[in-house]
Amino acid sequence: MTHHFDAAGTAALSRRLATALAPIEEGRASASPSFDESAFLADLAAQDFANPRPLEEVEDWVIRAFASGNVQMTHPGYVGLFNPAPFEAARRADLIAAGFNPQLAVRSHAIAAAEVEAHVVRAWTRRIGWGEGADGHFTSGGAEANATALQAALMHVAPQIAEEGMAAIAEPRFYISAESHLAWLKIAHQAGLGRRAVVLVPTDGVGRMDAKALADVIAGDRAAGRTPLMIAATAGTTNAGAVDPLHACADIAARERLWLHVDAAWGGALLASNRLRDTLDGIARADSVTLDAHKWLGATMGTGMFLTAHPEHLAKAFNVATSYMPSADAGVDPYLNGYQWSRRALGLRLYMVMAQLGWDGLAAHVEQAVARCDKLAARLEAEGWVRRNGKAMAVACMVPPDGGAEVATIVERVIASGQAWLSLARFEGEPVLRFCLTNGLTDEAAIERIAAAILEAAQL
Ligand SMILES: *Cc1c(COP(=O)(O)O)cnc(C)c1O
Repeated sequence: MTHHFDAAGTAALSRRLATALAPIEEGRASASPSFDESAFLADLAAQDFANPRPLEEVEDWVIRAFASGNVQMTHPGYVGLFNPAPFEAARRADLIAAGFNPQLAVRSHAIAAAEVEAHVVRAWTRRIGWGEGADGHFTSGGAEANATALQAALMHVAPQIAEEGMAAIAEPRFYISAESHLAWLKIAHQAGLGRRAVVLVPTDGVGRMDAKALADVIAGDRAAGRTPLMIAATAGTTNAGAVDPLHACADIAARERLWLHVDAAWGGALLASNRLRDTLDGIARADSVTLDAHKWLGATMGTGMFLTAHPEHLAKAFNVATSYMPSADAGVDPYLNGYQWSRRALGLRLYMVMAQLGWDGLAAHVEQAVARCDKLAARLEAEGWVRRNGKAMAVACMVPPDGGAEVATIVERVIASGQAWLSLARFEGEPVLRFCLTNGLTDEAAIERIAAAILEAAQL
């Protein structure tokens, strides 16, 4: 057994992996019906790690299991959640990162890796429209980035809680729309604010936060002696791609001296397109932004970003000094600016994607997704379906014509057909069939197959 990089073994694995991935396109988007879950679990349970096994044998076991026992992200019919078929550049970045295994907790330990990440982060902060001094870091995903935003907001509004804890402020509150991502509830719980701190502001009937309702609820909380902290607008709701009124939210945040976070976890990808980025107009007025590269930018799972115009608040929230760390430079060392301590070179994935594709290539990727989503929606509209959400992003919420099967039944049947994996969602209180085309592999032929599967499933 060796700790050295085994080029021959890795090359052999690459070939076997390619052989296993190739037929997925022709197979099923959902887990295979030939996958015998109880046999798999029994097989797994019998593995007690008592005896060593050849690595190749282990690899083949894992590949077989993953090829049949998971929903397939590299299937062109995977149009359910924002999980991409990753770009080859991101896959290779993972290989390089694992090869060197740099430790990014401290900049001086991994100057090259840390600076590559910082360079990518700054490329996106400029794209948002922020000036010099804006910064950020890679996170495990949008949930961690949003949790980081709450910590920054607390340091902005109530820095005394760093020493005194939440008891120092009366009934903290932050504001999200009723259509936003409910990781916020976990975040409020973990931060010690309590879930009641999350105020769900009503939406306007098309999935956007109602700015008047937002202003009213903040005024009401102030009058009741509560402590408003942050407005977390969503730019691209998970269900429907709705963009909250960012300018109105920014006006209210400025007036009330609140932190303005924009959760653009998947929709932020539109920043890459000069043609479509106006959809996010106003995002430059945010204090911080969440953007996931593992959703619509083709990075492998676990590549989020927290971006901020005011990085000094991070150093306040996450600063600590220990004798055994090589350095403790609050503005510089990643472990003093975010939740993670030991850090993997996550940003390398997005760096390599961007370096290979360029902004034009990324723009083409997102523009094509929006166009193809509209195309699939139009195929259904031609058969009497109605699209409930706006068209700005690559997600559609569709309602079938009366007289056919119910939405839940249709979704179940399509998934069972193996032609596509899409989801049942609620948009503004109504059940909808929801698909997003951020996967990257859903081409014209796949659109036809998916449309046919949906239309067939809709018949009684
Ligand atoms: C996906 C999503 C999140 C959560 O991000 P993860 O990467 O899954 O942690 C948060 N907000 C929005 C709007 C999302 O779409």
